[in-house]
Amino acid sequence: MIDALVIGGGFYGVAIACYLVRQRGLDRVRLVEREAGLLTRASFHNQARIHNGYHYPRSYVTAYRSRINFPRFVADFPSAIRSDFVKLYAVARRNSKVNAQQFARFCSEIGAPLTPAPGEYSKLFDANLIEAVFLTQEYAFDAADLKSWAKHELSACAVEVTTGCEVRACHPTGDGTTVEINATDGEGSDSEAVTARYVFNCTYSGLNRLGGAFTPVDTRLKHEITEMGLVEMPSVLRGLSITVLDGPFFSAMPFPARGLHSLSHVRYTPHLYWQDEAGEDPYARLDRYAKEPRVDRMIRDAARYVPSLAEATVRDSLFEVKTVLAKNERDDGQPILLEKSKTLPGFYSILGGKMDNVYDIMGFLDDEIIQ
Ligand SMILES: Cc1cc2nc3c(=O)[nH]c(=O)nc-3n(C[C@H](O)[C@H](O)[C@H](O)COP(=O)(O)OP(=O)(O)OC[C@H]3O[C@@H](n4cnc5c(N)ncnc54)[C@H](O)[C@@H]3O)c2cc1C
Repeated sequence: MIDALVIGGGFYGVAIACYLVRQRGLDRVRLVEREAGLLTRASFHNQARIHNGYHYPRSYVTAYRSRINFPRFVADFPSAIRSDFVKLYAVARRNSKVNAQQFARFCSEIGAPLTPAPGEYSKLFDANLIEAVFLTQEYAFDAADLKSWAKHELSACAVEVTTGCEVRACHPTGDGTTVEINATDGEGSDSEAVTARYVFNCTYSGLNRLGGAFTPVDTRLKHEITEMGLVEMPSVLRGLSITVLDGPFFSAMPFPARGLHSLSHVRYTPHLYWQDEAGEDPYARLDRYAKEPRVDRMIRDAARYVPSLAEATVRDSLFEVKTVLAKNERDDGQPILLEKSKTLPGFYSILGGKMDNVYDIMGFLDDEIIQ
């Protein structure tokens, strides 16, 4: 029996595996990832924003936790951090769920630095549609750098890594759980059984897709097929990030892993969504989905607010499944799920709405008996 097995080699799986070795002193830890490499799914296909609270004026707890986690993430991943751009948040005059005064008060309450943007930046916005523009403190991360970190950190922690294989079923075995591991594209006849005292299900969109004695988590999940455009910004916008709050607007952030900007739009980024109860494999659904890009529409709408965005050149679109807690539909919050299995000994399911929430998960695990 090994000490722990982590299912899923995204940012969470890697961070948790290394936490178990470094913080909890476990010796024999193994990680299994169904893709050919680590951090290829949501942990790569996201907007690369290191949240610092600004994004969540309707979810004080999420914003506040981001403020706590931001400096920790920045300190832990120095080589992945990109801060050399101007970070602008703008408040729309119409259809916004907050006005500029409310946004400024909210930032003051969570202690997030906020100053009115100088004219050279505010003049980039259409003053008929934008009430106020602010300078903020928010960074981006380089997902390619995090991939290298994952490889080195797992090796430094002597975690045994198996890629190209997936866990399909789990069964209770004495004090531990036995997982069946198969080649991702295999039939199942050549499965390997591994028993671990602790199993951490860090499979994000795949969280409820395990078989055997595994029972779905109690928390309701919602899946979305999302599109983020990757664009080359016109020179006047190249050194900027721009987020327009708080409603059917958009956000453009540097995407260091590709040397481009990502563009997301509240109306066009989510292509379709479904409740997890539907019992469908989210990865299979994404594979089947036609993936007709809407990035042109994102640009067209965003350019109403920032006219020079019309000059952006489309380079690509990243499609991914985003999995969120159904209860956050209204407040836009991004909290965490940590559930201990009722049927499988030492088995935990974990999901974090943002990269930095991994520290909240570790905070909860600190209180668990793991030996
Ligand atoms: C469009 C989009 C934009 C986002 N923007 C941001 C942002 O700007 N900032 C931010 O902080 N967060 C953002 N997020 C959220 C962030 O990406 C996630 O919180 C984070 O990546 C979750 O990490 P993870 O390791 O749980 O998931 P993943 O990286 O998806 O890892 C899960 C892994 O499990 C593997 N897996 C699944 N099933 C199995 C199985 N049965 N056996 C073995 N392996 C399995 C998958 O292949 C995958 O590699 C965004 C997400 C999306 C989709």
